[in-house]
Amino acid sequence: MSTYLESTPNEEGFFGEYGGAMLPPPLIPHFKEINEAYQRLSKSKEFLDDLKYIRKHFQGRPTPVSHLKNLSKLSGGAQIYAKREDLNHTGAHKLNHCMAEGLLAKHMGKTKLIAETGAGQHGVALATAAAYFGLECEIHMGEVDIKKEYPNVVRMKLLGATVVPVGEGAKTLKEAVDSAFGSYIGQADHALFGIGSVVGPHPFPLMVRNFQSVVGHEAREQFLEMTGELPDMVAACVGGGSNAMGLFAGFIEDQSVELFGVEPLGTSSKLGDHAATMTYGQDGDIHGFHTKVLVDENGDPAPVNTLASGLDYPGVGPEHAHLQKIGRVSYKTADDKESLDAFYALSRREGIIPALESAHAVAFAMREAKNHPDKTILLNLSGRGDKDLDFVVETYGFGE
Ligand SMILES: *Cc1c(COP(=O)(O)O)cnc(C)c1O
Repeated sequence: MSTYLESTPNEEGFFGEYGGAMLPPPLIPHFKEINEAYQRLSKSKEFLDDLKYIRKHFQGRPTPVSHLKNLSKLSGGAQIYAKREDLNHTGAHKLNHCMAEGLLAKHMGKTKLIAETGAGQHGVALATAAAYFGLECEIHMGEVDIKKEYPNVVRMKLLGATVVPVGEGAKTLKEAVDSAFGSYIGQADHALFGIGSVVGPHPFPLMVRNFQSVVGHEAREQFLEMTGELPDMVAACVGGGSNAMGLFAGFIEDQSVELFGVEPLGTSSKLGDHAATMTYGQDGDIHGFHTKVLVDENGDPAPVNTLASGLDYPGVGPEHAHLQKIGRVSYKTADDKESLDAFYALSRREGIIPALESAHAVAFAMREAKNHPDKTILLNLSGRGDKDLDFVVETYGFGE
């Protein structure tokens, strides 16, 4: 019998009823080419050996699992552990799929990577991959985000990427996606689109999940070695959903392990105040695939809001919609305030400054720990908080 990961999605890229590929006709042959190359290369020993080498000698994998003893004590219940993706090169899990996308481009004979970025984290990770593989890199970014996230613009440029400012509409992520896709259509013969999460048309949700699954496979082995058992609960924040799918992939066959996705509740549960797509969204289409989406009264993607700009997306990876529907993963929320408290607590108690995105998973673990004194919780610390320091300290100070 094939495992969940082998059999999901199906050949058309459907996770149950979610996923698929709704593409403009000129892109159909290019996505077919990407899918064929991925299917072939993901079984090739040379490709897998190259990836293994890069992960060990460039990214610094495996990243450790840390027992957060002080935070567990503070929370007064379950023992909390963290998978340390903050220690992955460039400071977050995103490099796991960006290096693999770069390697894929190289093996396909492509000479360029193109993508959009919101806060700039994905752009920096992809520009890093491009520098490593000697590929050109073109990153589309809204003019509003360019101003707000200037240090990441500087990083991308230092890494050799061209940053294309996008002045249309609200000048943020959605317009950047449209602009990057438009540019890609004209260059698809020599460029690869480097999607930033488990989103987009097939085969990207499949590829990015499999590239990120290294996180879960490492974590399962490490946790077993540390404790002799599997964790009772596994949790990760969900924006597009890549760090969560990476961690979940390691435990999806272990029915005793409860899986939790944690979404940003922002300032309230009112539409426009949060980005909790799995909790408050409905079935719909966005950016070429079928999933759950947050929509306004006209059926257009709704405005979203959270302190953590990496979670600011009105859609979600199709696999999450599927895993919720079949009851394998539960989706919960953490709001700005709880996540900020968790950000300070992890910094002060454990000496780890988390990304505001990851702080949502920490907040969930701290809350649940109280209710489950005999359990163990493993969370994904998807990234480090260097990028958030100025914003947090200028806006909220140093915590108590
Ligand atoms: C981008 C980002 C996320 C959100 O992306 P997912 O695809 O939902 O994982 C989470 N954490 C960090 C640190 C990020 O940079």
